Amino acid sequence: MNQMLYPAKVLAELLDTKAVIANPASEIRTLITDSRKVADTQHALFFALQGRRDGHQFLKDVYQAGVHNLVVSDPGIHQSQFPLANLFLVDDTLAALQKLAAHHRKQFTYPVIGITGSNGKTIVKEWLYQLLAPENRIVRSPKSYNSQMGVPVSVWQMNGENTLAIFEAGISKAGEMENLAKVIRPDIGILTSVGEAHNEGFRSREEKISEKLKLFKDAGVFVYNWHDLENYHGEIPGKRKVSWGYNDKTDLKITESRAQDTVSHFIKAIFKDMEVSLVIPFTDHASIQNCITCFTVLLTLGYDAGEIAKRTQKLLHIKMRLEMKSGINNCSVIDDSYSLDLSSLAIALDFLKQQNQHLRKTLVLSDIPESGMEQSTLYERVAQLLQSKPVNRLIGVGENIGRFAAIFPVQTQFFPSTEELIDQMPALNFSNETILLKGARVFGFEKISKALTQKVHETVLEINLNAVEHNLNYYKARLKPGVKLMAMVKAFSYGSGSYEIASLLQFNKIDYLAVAYTDEGVSLRKAGITLPLMVMNPDVQAFEAMIDNNLEPEIYSMRILKEFIKALGRKNIKRYPIHLKLDTGMHRLGFMEEEANALTAILNQSPQLHIQSIFSHLAAAGDAREDDFTRLQIARFQRVSENISQQTDYRIIRHIANTSAIDRWPDAQFDMVRLGIGLYGIDPADNNRTPPLQTVTVLKTSVSQVKTLQPGETVGYNRQGKLPDGGKIATVKIGYADGYSRKLGNGNGKMLVNGNEAPTIGTICMDMCMLNVTGMAVQEGDEVIVFDSRRRVEDIARSINTIPYEILTGISQRVKRVYYYE
Ligand SMILES: *Cc1c(COP(=O)(O)O)cnc(C)c1O
Repeated sequence: MNQMLYPAKVLAELLDTKAVIANPASEIRTLITDSRKVADTQHALFFALQGRRDGHQFLKDVYQAGVHNLVVSDPGIHQSQFPLANLFLVDDTLAALQKLAAHHRKQFTYPVIGITGSNGKTIVKEWLYQLLAPENRIVRSPKSYNSQMGVPVSVWQMNGENTLAIFEAGISKAGEMENLAKVIRPDIGILTSVGEAHNEGFRSREEKISEKLKLFKDAGVFVYNWHDLENYHGEIPGKRKVSWGYNDKTDLKITESRAQDTVSHFIKAIFKDMEVSLVIPFTDHASIQNCITCFTVLLTLGYDAGEIAKRTQKLLHIKMRLEMKSGINNCSVIDDSYSLDLSSLAIALDFLKQQNQHLRKTLVLSDIPESGMEQSTLYERVAQLLQSKPVNRLIGVGENIGRFAAIFPVQTQFFPSTEELIDQMPALNFSNETILLKGARVFGFEKISKALTQKVHETVLEINLNAVEHNLNYYKARLKPGVKLMAMVKAFSYGSGSYEIASLLQFNKIDYLAVAYTDEGVSLRKAGITLPLMVMNPDVQAFEAMIDNNLEPEIYSMRILKEFIKALGRKNIKRYPIHLKLDTGMHRLGFMEEEANALTAILNQSPQLHIQSIFSHLAAAGDAREDDFTRLQIARFQRVSENISQQTDYRIIRHIANTSAIDRWPDAQFDMVRLGIGLYGIDPADNNRTPPLQTVTVLKTSVSQVKTLQPGETVGYNRQGKLPDGGKIATVKIGYADGYSRKLGNGNGKMLVNGNEAPTIGTICMDMCMLNVTGMAVQEGDEVIVFDSRRRVEDIARSINTIPYEILTGISQRVKRVYYYE
């Protein structure tokens, strides 16, 4: 979102294409790469990128949304389809995006810092931003936008009022950096670290380094950790090279590095024959490295060491995720305190749009600091953003935003400070709405967040929505062309939440949702879920609610079929979508093969019905020992479903594959698959392969009390926990009422306390249990991990002879769910 406007004709020249210009007066300033995130339509340019999905599929959507400038690479796209649009035909839409950004970059002469490295790119970028903000109006990459697409979008934000730019670049294979180097053209280069990550895309460490260094080919200054390039044989770039490290060959030589106290670290070093020192407000290795990198950069830029030390002490942890929790009066609270600028506001508003559970949406927004724009332009941009995003009310906090009250297109209220807002909270009537909190750090919006969220119980299930998206895409990539996807969100989405997950799936345009019971479907409808929804256990008593909410029943028996036809008849409804369930061997619900003829006879005389799909369920899709049986089930399904389909004059969707079958039985995908457990990060194959899925859920609790016991003491009910030699125990806030099974007592279960495995001791109580932490450093209040990517749900399930499904769905509703999105 820059301020420069590019006329359509200029754009055609820059992209070197024969464009069809329907509207020569059109001018561009906003780039759109995701059809779901349309903004500033009048001045927007959409790139139909060939990513996981082909952007050309969404041309109609963005055109209808009002975007009338389209960059395409499919020569089959005709102007007649988009009569009002300027159409730019190029060979490669991503290359065109990069080319445009590279041109934009060249319009500015202020310094650009380019950052790459295996780890720490975003942290170093954000810290440099914090350290350099006092003298500069900085433009920087939003979040970790560092990909082939993210870099051009970042650079596009540059405008004439900035005085410094900081961009990060990330690559995963050889050949990628050259494109990014042309877009960023850094004057100052920083290599944060060279780790082992992403090695798959490179032949060797040497090749990986050489590829990363291409970013700095023409840089005036290059800052790096000497030890990272110690064994590198290629040329080190930069007219001026500045290294840091622990020996005499470095420019910043660290002479002392030690813990100052439990929360900070002390560094002494020599730079240009001068002794300099620094206290870092972090103690972990990575933060210390990243801080030293920033220190070296500022020294190189000529900052006084004392001034740098002063600023470094105030460095803040970078929180990159936004958080969503339930709040008072049935509100949902989205807390995004990562940073506040226009681009991160736009990202957060897109998330608000995605999470559609409440009709009413409120944005609480503070003054936006250091934007490098005139205040009036800045808040006009905010007003424009609010126009295209669904916000009903704006609550502004700060001295500046209130001055522009008149320009916002929504209901507004203003407060001079956070404290005053909190004082008057009851009058704001927060209820049944989603509240997005977006405040600059100085405004301390965490106080509002605390006041709005219910703090009931300190055991929390964290759900990573990005991981759900990742897993969805993993399975999508496994589908044959044209195969549809139904996601199973029954049982509170396997314990992970209902509308939060469903909203994400709807946003990702899957085809179908399925729930177990009608009331689950009704609450999803109430939360704004409009996707087609199948109900697997339709109760006759709930048919009315089913029909009123446009839910589609699974019809599994003659009784249910006849009852449903009656219900439709009473309402005089024709062609209502239903899903026929066949029993091919699972022997749970469904019509048996013998019933097929009787079934079709009824269907043929029932204009009330439209058979939307025919399906069946595999009993052992993941079990190699039962593969013969699975083949038999598939063959039976093929036969019976074909037989029924032939009797209708329309196409019926057929489906039988669950998560396991998507991977193991690709030929059984038919027209649709039903994705369940895999979406939630559990790999049903579980054959010791590296899991291709990301962990979705982390269950956390905390220590209430620590005590040291004498030899011979016992722990818990019935004195089951024994400590013959004495030891130390920690009581934690999770018990069987939270879903932590009693079978995990007496050492069968382990939790992670400050990274160490601590076994349970004694029996699990209803609301608590005890851990043996003998020999470990543990304090009251310490965080305890029940499961995460290290202590996996799969392992816990195996240890008590059950399956991950049972563990996940067993986590009780009193355990608070917190959602994260990056
Ligand atoms: C739960 C369920 C699924 C999903 O199974 P996963 O093993 O979790 O993928 C698919 N189909 C039906 C009928 C189900 O009940």
